[in-house]
Amino acid sequence: MKHAVHVVRCPDYEIALPEAFERLAAASGLFDAAALCGKRVLVKPNLLTDRLPEQAVTTHPSLVRLVIRRLKAAGAVVSVGDSPASTANLKVTLERSGIGAVCEEEGVPFVSFEQGGVRNFEQDGFSFLLAKPVVEADLLVNLPKVKSHSLTKLTAAVKNLYGAVPGYSKTTLHRLYPKPETFGRLLQAIWNVLPPAVSLADAVVGMEGQGPSNGKPVRLGFLAASDDPFALDTALCGILHLRPSTVPYLKGCETAHTPEVLGDDVSVPSFEIPSGSHLLDLLPAWLVHVASRLLWVRPAFVPGPCVRCGKCAQACPASALALRADASVPRLDAKACIGCACCHEVCPKGAIRMKQSAVLRLIGAFKGLD
Ligand code: SF4
Ligand code: SF4
Repeated sequence: MKHAVHVVRCPDYEIALPEAFERLAAASGLFDAAALCGKRVLVKPNLLTDRLPEQAVTTHPSLVRLVIRRLKAAGAVVSVGDSPASTANLKVTLERSGIGAVCEEEGVPFVSFEQGGVRNFEQDGFSFLLAKPVVEADLLVNLPKVKSHSLTKLTAAVKNLYGAVPGYSKTTLHRLYPKPETFGRLLQAIWNVLPPAVSLADAVVGMEGQGPSNGKPVRLGFLAASDDPFALDTALCGILHLRPSTVPYLKGCETAHTPEVLGDDVSVPSFEIPSGSHLLDLLPAWLVHVASRLLWVRPAFVPGPCVRCGKCAQACPASALALRADASVPRLDAKACIGCACCHEVCPKGAIRMKQSAVLRLIGAFKGLD
């Protein structure tokens, strides 16, 4: 089944954004007042961690502001919410991202998913918790930042909805479902129980390289929107020169979530993705099992920038990291590590790189995938 994905060019946040957003809203009809009036709408930006807007880790506050204004003008009851990877620093994350100030100035509440209660779901063979503020909304407005990701290659609309899982339940699910393909199926199961959602991707400035938190900001120059996050991310793959079949959570989506790309013809010359554990997914399970000592993706620590804050150890779902008094960086228990990259996501100093084993790098080069 085809799902419309609307794309508009938007070279910058300062001048072009308001007009680009209006064009997108008019062309897509996704923000029409008739569908929004009186609805409880939860806006879900990417608030991964405490970075400034220009670092391109979080959704740009100017886009969040425009969306809030549009929803309020349509008569919706608006709130903004998320569950940052490092829950301890929510206040700092809101301040640094600029999204806290936007909520305050626009008079809309910010809802922390850790504090709003949870509901348990059993779906498609998975068991997971979702934040009540998310499942009780009439409509989600999903505002992902388009970034590279060390585990899934791409993070955009689908992965941003994973933020509906509150706090450290996210890392527990990573531990339960470490294989990227299984994790991808979990994301589809979560989508199946969420309320209807409009996804609007912030790809004005995205992130490439060591994403989702330690890569380089890159000007992509567009916005894209759809009511189907899988179709939206598949369309993004086309623009960013990625094969959707190599993005674990897009596997098997071809038939049910085919994008029909409408609007401006945007082109991005290149998009750098990190080396990652998705390569493990390309190998037969028996080979991964037999050669597990040779096939791995693990964090490597850079002593200079590490400030020994311990956030990586707190976030590790496999208890594979320990911060010892006599060491300059956390110590890794390589046998326990499941290669989930949660530590890499939360490190505030860019002191962690996800490193592949030599054999895996060789396979990647041979398959032409890295
Ligand atoms: S690696 Fe990063 S998250 Fe871990 S202790 Fe060092 S600075 Fe903190
Ligand atoms: S050390 Fe990092 S990559 Fe390994 S399991 Fe822990 S959080 Fe995941």
